[in-house]
Amino acid sequence: VRTNRLPNGGMVRTFTDITERKTSEEAIRRAATHDPLTGLANRTLFQARLEEALANAEASRSGVGLLLLDLDDFKTINDRFGHAIGDEVLVRFAAILSRTLGPEDVAARLGGEEFCLLVHATTAAAVHALAENIRLEFSGTDPLPGDFGPPTVSAGIAIASPRPETFDELLRAADELLYRAKDAGRNRVHGPELRLVA
Ligand code: GH3
Ligand code: MG
Ligand code: MG
Repeated sequence: VRTNRLPNGGMVRTFTDITERKTSEEAIRRAATHDPLTGLANRTLFQARLEEALANAEASRSGVGLLLLDLDDFKTINDRFGHAIGDEVLVRFAAILSRTLGPEDVAARLGGEEFCLLVHATTAAAVHALAENIRLEFSGTDPLPGDFGPPTVSAGIAIASPRPETFDELLRAADELLYRAKDAGRNRVHGPELRLVA
C-alpha cells in the first residue's frame, strides 16, 4: 500500500495486489528445493535438513538414521514398459515414503530411482523395521504387466549415534550397505550396522 499526500491535504492511496508475485516466488523456492515429479525434497534440501538434524543430535545425543533406497531393475522397467510407466512407479514409491514418514522425518529423491529418508532414530531395530515395511509395502503394490511382477526396492541404512558424523560419511556408509543388498539378490534391506568408535 503506497500513500501520496497531496498539497490540498488530500491523499492518493495505491493498493497493489502482490498475490501473484508471492505465489511465483513460492513456486521458485519450491522448484529449488523439491523434485517436480514426486514432490519430495531434493538433494539440496535433504542435505540441509540432515546436517541440521546431525547438529541437534550432538546436543541431544539422539540418533539420526539415513536410509538409502534404490529401486530394483528400474532400467528394465523403463525399457520394457516405457518412461511414462517408469515415472508412475517412481510416484508410487514416493507416495509410500510420504505415508510412512513421521512428522520430523524427511523423504527425498536424490535423482533417478534413488531415494533417501532421514529418520530420527530411536533404535537400530526400529529403523530397520521401518525400511522393511517400506520394502514390503512396495512389493505388495500392483504387478507390472506380463510376468514382471510388482516393482521392488533395496535399501541400505546408516545411523549416526552416538558419534556425530557428516552427511557424506553417513551417505557413504548407507551406500555401501545398499550395494551389498543389491549384491545379495535385491528386494532386501541391509543395515544399520554397529560401527564401533575407536
Ligand atoms: P539396480 O537393480 O542395480 O538398481 O539396477 P537399475 O536398473 O535399477 O539401475 P540403473 O542405474 O541401471 O538404471 C536406472 C535407470 O533409471 C536408468 C535411467 O534411464 C532411469 N531413470 C533415471 N531418471 C528417471 C526418471 O526421471 N524417469 C524414468 N522413468 N526413468 C529414469
Ligand atoms: Mg536401481
Ligand atoms: Mg540407481
